[in-house]
This record gives sequence, C-alpha cells and structure tokens, in this order.
Amino acid sequence: MNSPVPPRKPIPQQQRTSISSKDEIEAVLRTRSMLISGYVTQIIQIETGLTQKRVRSISHDLQREGLFVERRSRTLRSSKTIIQGQASKVHASILMVLYQNLGGSPTINTINTTALTKSYSLYLAILQELPESDQKSWGEKLSISDAWALAREIRTKDAAVLNCKSCKAEYFEAVHESTNLDCPFCRPLFPSSMLSNQVELPVSNRVELTA
Ligand SMILES: [Zn+2]
Repeated sequence: MNSPVPPRKPIPQQQRTSISSKDEIEAVLRTRSMLISGYVTQIIQIETGLTQKRVRSISHDLQREGLFVERRSRTLRSSKTIIQGQASKVHASILMVLYQNLGGSPTINTINTTALTKSYSLYLAILQELPESDQKSWGEKLSISDAWALAREIRTKDAAVLNCKSCKAEYFEAVHESTNLDCPFCRPLFPSSMLSNQVELPVSNRVELTA
C-alpha cells in the first residue's frame, strides 16, 4: 500500500518564506558589489543563496545602469589548475598571505569576502612592483574568483599558509596543487631561457617579495 515517497523538489527561491525582504535586499546589494569586483556567478550564488537567473538579471541591471561588469567565461578553478609552477605559487602566496593578515584567524573557518576583495586590490597593486621576468606565467595574474577558490581551500583544510623554516617567508601550500615545490621564495625565479637546464642562480638574484 505504501508507495515510495518521491524526493521533494527544491523550493524555488521566490517561494521561500525564510528569506525576508531585508535579507533579499542585502543579497542583491552583495551581489551587485561582488559582480563589480569581478566574482564569477557560481561564487556569488554560493555566497548569497540567489539563483543563477537572479544573479544574471542583477548583472544585466548593472550594465543597463552603465556600470562595468567584466564578462568572464572562466569557470571556478582550484589550486590544481591555479598553481602549476613557481610563478603561480608566488602569486597565490602573496594573495593568500595578504588575505590571512587582513582576515585574521577566522579565515580558517569561513570565507571573509570583505578581506578577500581588499587583499585582491592590494595584490594588484603589488603586481606593479614585481621584478621583471620573461616567464609568461610570471605575468599571469590570478582572478578574484581564484582568490575565493584558494580561500575556500584554506577553510576546508585543503590548504594553509605555512612558514618557511629556511627563508622565514610565509607561503601558500595546497594539497592538490600541480607542483612539488615547497616554499616558492627560497629559490630564484628562473628566466624561461634557463628552465631547460635548471641552472642555479646566485642567492642575490632571489626574488624578494615579502616587503
Ligand atoms: Zn623559503
């Protein structure tokens, strides 16, 4: 007699009564701010609880108002695709050390998007001061969404900011990154021409980035 109970369909956002109009307004304002900062839709959905359709509609509203919203085709990445070598590990380390310094210890249990957005602005400013290199990867900056992905890995304990015993710099280390390198600051950044034979450069050529 008992027929199996079909799984419940998720309740559409607009029918949920738990979200008050105040929460809705806050979610919309946060979405606008995150869109302007350049976060991908997927992250905004996770952070605000709004549907993809709603986020896109807010994005269109912003554009109609003449506000710049960068169109990003890039989807959400992880440290596996973000950290492919020394240069990207230096980038990730600068960004995540700034984030942990600004966000403090709560960043271990939660993603602080305010601290993240602020640290991303500082990271962009620091990029202007980086020494020159002919390595293509050296000039490839991380996106704000990459920053969020790395921050999430800190929260899920798949990554952490560690202290290097050798050079004492702090650096970002992820379980799933695509490099076996530990501290990215302990060795010079090789110009592309030297990558093939891995010639050791003198320590004086080491990239000092933790000013
Ligand atoms: Zn080191």
